[in-house]
Amino acid sequence: VLATHIDGKAIAGRIRDGVARRARALRHGGHPPCLAAILAGDDAAALSYARSQEARAEEAGIDYRLVRLPSDVGSSPLIDEIDALNADASISGIMLHLPLPRGDDAFSVQQRIAAAKDVEGVGAENLGLLMMGRDALVPCTAAAAFECLRSVVPDMTGLDAVVVGRSVIVGKPLAMLLLAANATVTQCHSRTRDLREHTRSAKLLVVAAGSAGLIGAEHVSPGAVVVDVGTHRVTVLDADGVERIRTVGDVRFDEVASIAAAITPVPGGVGPVTVAKLLENTVRACERMLAAP
Ligand code: NAP
Repeated sequence: VLATHIDGKAIAGRIRDGVARRARALRHGGHPPCLAAILAGDDAAALSYARSQEARAEEAGIDYRLVRLPSDVGSSPLIDEIDALNADASISGIMLHLPLPRGDDAFSVQQRIAAAKDVEGVGAENLGLLMMGRDALVPCTAAAAFECLRSVVPDMTGLDAVVVGRSVIVGKPLAMLLLAANATVTQCHSRTRDLREHTRSAKLLVVAAGSAGLIGAEHVSPGAVVVDVGTHRVTVLDADGVERIRTVGDVRFDEVASIAAAITPVPGGVGPVTVAKLLENTVRACERMLAAP
């Protein structure tokens, strides 16, 4: 039996339709939502990602302001920039493209973003609210992985969920979302003793380990739903002997697709939904700012 492919582009399209409707209403009310993205340096991949983000934002009726800073920028001008965007009433959301070119730690810069504009959900306040089960701006990739699961399993009550990875932006917030949905959650990481034993117990398996091809058929039980967050650009030798660059995930897709009930492809799974979630957080931030006293 071949697994259902969870179509990230279709899920993203549905989210963007809702976002576009809300953005139109905001614009008609004289408050167009605007996402400010800070990009330090001239890394070609980061710039191309920012450009595609801009295109998706504009399709959804969200203004996009790319703030470019030189590659030798230190954290103090970055913080000044954040302060200016925090104070600018025309800006609904602020995000920081990573990594910072000088290898500076992004932590202090990200924590400076006002909680109300923290559309990546990476600040202590939003993460804390998420943990407390309160209304929060949820980290986009975790929200996207959760949305992919929910598209095939609307009710997760009591199901065994295993998350591979415990990063602050993906693994941990995802575990919180699964708990809030009443799944029984196990979190694995690089020190987990027997990864396979845990992953085989999963009805819902989300892999965010950042390790290409880590999860294969031996890790998955028949009928599991598998969401692959990993993205890696790898060079492969095709059957015709030509080297090609391909994007692969943390899951060996072909193997696992023959066992699982449903699986996200890479590319075309979690990735597009992540961008849609960023836009959704931006309209939400804009709506909340208008509703605030
Ligand atoms: P990260 O910060 O590097 O965290 C990786 C986590 O996986 C860590 O908790 C690590 O454990 C764990 N891990 C690593 N190797 C493992 C192994 N062999 N067995 C079990 N656990 C292992 O990465 P991240 O930021 O969460 O991102 C994860 C992946 O998602 C990356 O491939 C990234 O490119 C991708 N990503 C995709 C999107 C998207 O939109 N699709 C967005 C963001 C990230 P320790 O804590 O013990 O080190």
